[in-house]
Amino acid sequence: MSNPQPHPPFDTEVLVVGAGPTGLALATTLRRAGHDPLVVERLTEGQGTSRAAVIHAHTLEVLESLGIGERLLGEGIRLSRFSIRDRDETLVRLRFDRLPSDHACLLMVTQDRTEHVLREALAEARGRVQWGTTVKSIVASGGGVTAALETREGTRRVRARYVVGADGMHSLVRTAADIGFTGSTYEESFVLADVEMDWPPGRDEVMLFFSPPGLVVVAPLAHGRFRVVATMQDAPLRPGVEDVQRLLDERGPQSVRSRVTAVHWSSRFRLHHRVADHYRSGPFLLVGDAAHVHSPAGGQGMNTGLVDACVLGRMLAEVLDGRQPDEWLDRYEGLRRPAAQQVLGLAGRLTAMATMKGAARRWARNLVLRTIGMLPPARRKLEMGLSGLARRDAARLPGGHVTDSRNMMPAWHRSAPPALPQR
Ligand SMILES: Cc1cc2nc3c(=O)[nH]c(=O)nc-3n(C[C@H](O)[C@H](O)[C@H](O)COP(=O)(O)OP(=O)(O)OC[C@H]3O[C@@H](n4cnc5c(N)ncnc54)[C@H](O)[C@@H]3O)c2cc1C
Repeated sequence: MSNPQPHPPFDTEVLVVGAGPTGLALATTLRRAGHDPLVVERLTEGQGTSRAAVIHAHTLEVLESLGIGERLLGEGIRLSRFSIRDRDETLVRLRFDRLPSDHACLLMVTQDRTEHVLREALAEARGRVQWGTTVKSIVASGGGVTAALETREGTRRVRARYVVGADGMHSLVRTAADIGFTGSTYEESFVLADVEMDWPPGRDEVMLFFSPPGLVVVAPLAHGRFRVVATMQDAPLRPGVEDVQRLLDERGPQSVRSRVTAVHWSSRFRLHHRVADHYRSGPFLLVGDAAHVHSPAGGQGMNTGLVDACVLGRMLAEVLDGRQPDEWLDRYEGLRRPAAQQVLGLAGRLTAMATMKGAARRWARNLVLRTIGMLPPARRKLEMGLSGLARRDAARLPGGHVTDSRNMMPAWHRSAPPALPQR
């Protein structure tokens, strides 16, 4: 009997599918650790849309390992207060400037700017993205995966030891790994708009208003703009000035009137509430929206994905460097999936409270929130949950490595990454 043929060598150690925020953060983490992932993205350039508008304190701590904290701060504005209101009444006001963190703030920065900073960080680490390249199929083979890539030049096959699905909610990687995405879809849609307006309550606080027709959030952005987010039954495809004005009139403060003068970007999307049943299956791994999606209430989606990416990047580097066995990667799910479940719980509770039907239930809700507002420990719990600092342990690598402190990073994290041959 002849010996089995040895596996052909891998073309790349790690194939990263998707160059959204999580794919870029993961690739930069690997690159800074001296590895050379192959990053493919079906778009020909970044999406360039506003979408996620806040970066929380814990995410900023974790992103220190990529050396981009200062640049992100330069792209956005720092806020310290977040209030939950019922029209004119403040039910609870949270403070983010007294958090136990070097980054005690809400950093308001639009996703296109965050992705721009992440693309720069990857380029500085001498990594790159293969734009205009779509993964059409992936199968497990020979201890890794084989992926069919469609590029401008035609189709080619790539063999990788690991594939990371950073490919968003409709993840092909998750489907190829036959991992379920358990959860449900909300009845309502959300609308988002970046607007210019006269807003008498001012520019130093994020405000979430409850009202019988639904919630509306108003958050100041850089360049004098505001982000408006609202639930809506039959949302228009591209909400305009009048739509946003109506939402603010019906749901915002009654004692003062806003005046929307321009809409710079707007969108609507359907809400899902789902977590992947597993974060790993053999050579398949998931990060970001491929692993969890939920309501934007509390602005947690992209933040959770960025932490996933930095944690998984560090774990993969440990395994590729031979410091940990392959099975160590199984612990990624145990670290990050509970964090996503906590975030889903938090975002789900906020959304349920905001969209509560019936005067008696809304009265009871307001009573609970007023009570939280008067109790410092209860307020602090909410501040720690929203800032992500309550989930610091879920960014601590098994074995004691910490992803949230520059001082604990190995030397390569603080210096120029080693050069690797370009593909
Ligand atoms: C309209 C809208 C508004 C949002 N607002 C907020 C908000 O206010 N706050 C918040 O926290 N979050 C918000 N989100 C969610 C936030 O944008 C996501 O959490 C974040 O983008 C997730 O990043 P990601 O890298 O995991 O996935 P994505 O950003 O979805 O990136 C996935 C990438 O993979 C690529 N890709 C997919 N399949 C393939 C393939 N087969 N081959 C090659 N490439 C592929 C896609 O082109 C895409 O670029 C919003 C999302 C939307 C759509």
